[in-house]
Amino acid sequence: MIIDIHTHNTLSETDSLISTAKYNNVDKIVLLGNVLRFGYYPVEEQVHEINNDTIKTVKKYPDTCYGFCFLNPANGVDFTLAELERCVNKYRFRGVKLEVSVNCRDKRLHPIMKKLSELNLPLLHHCWYKTVNKCPDESTPSDIVYLARRFPTVKIIMAHLAGCGYLGVDDVAEYPNVYIDTSGGQPVASLVEYAVKRLGASRVVFGSDAPYRDISCQLGRIYGADLNEEEKEKIFYANAKELLKI
Ligand SMILES: [Zn+2]
Repeated sequence: MIIDIHTHNTLSETDSLISTAKYNNVDKIVLLGNVLRFGYYPVEEQVHEINNDTIKTVKKYPDTCYGFCFLNPANGVDFTLAELERCVNKYRFRGVKLEVSVNCRDKRLHPIMKKLSELNLPLLHHCWYKTVNKCPDESTPSDIVYLARRFPTVKIIMAHLAGCGYLGVDDVAEYPNVYIDTSGGQPVASLVEYAVKRLGASRVVFGSDAPYRDISCQLGRIYGADLNEEEKEKIFYANAKELLKI
């Protein structure tokens, strides 16, 4: 079995996303939402609309898709928590996705984190070490560490192994509540092996970032990694199964 913990649904591309996943033997995918549809700072109505699109896709493909609730922590707390509860209680979403609206050191994340701790659900947070073209409030692995220390009971999936690099892996190594998804730019030789060596295979999860990245290439970095079958099974599905409680 293969679970892809990091995909984005755009309504027009959903059918091809699902068929590409199936073609590549990916059994289950997590939809994080079309998170940049309205830019970096979506208002409440826009967040609601993005989640509605995810709900529609989950309803259309209930055996394949799981939703994550996309939020902008800069929006009102009442709206944010109500939206999270709507997605989780009514549509069985499995976690929260945060992108670049607010840096993850910001206190405005705290109500969301408290709620996730209460619900025992994970956060998947965009993350990247960039030297150029950084979004104003984009989070880095060192920002993720700050959040992970503050909320040790919440499992945080730090997105984009290839964007966080060796330094990002080292940053989070000592925080057992931080996982890393393997998505991101070009596969870098030995980076997956390095993440497994530093974090253990139980904290690395497969993610593709499809449809922005090609699923087959993203799978290739795991297939081709110098890891044993048990480690690959953990990355491909066992860890995600536990995180998503499926
Ligand atoms: Zn993404």
